[in-house]
Amino acid sequence: MSKILASILLLAGCAAPGGLHQDADAFPEVTSAFQILVQECPPKARLVNVTVGDPGPFLRGVTTNPAPGCFDIIIESSLEPWSKQETLCHEWAHVLVSEAGPVNCDDHGPLWGVAYAECYRALWGD
Ligand SMILES: [Zn+2]
Repeated sequence: MSKILASILLLAGCAAPGGLHQDADAFPEVTSAFQILVQECPPKARLVNVTVGDPGPFLRGVTTNPAPGCFDIIIESSLEPWSKQETLCHEWAHVLVSEAGPVNCDDHGPLWGVAYAECYRALWGD
């Protein structure tokens, strides 16, 4: 069971995109990266819940797919701010290539790579 330090953001892909939790200020670097990704690399998923907490031993982040069209991303809370952003970028790419589910966090193949590049460009490219 993962310990959630802060539930950062909810994204409802159709109805109310980018709804902010009240703890959104706890990790502003994650909130700002999330908002850019929602805008520049919008997922077709109904719901992407991003939290900062404990993704599990030896993991910087993890993405799960608890229900069709719904994804939970957990970012390791002890990471440096830039590393939290890079990890969100990595996990967001998993969501983009797993719209129909299930998500496979071990798949870092060509489709994931293209999605990661798009997310990376949105966050740090020109
Ligand atoms: Zn991965």
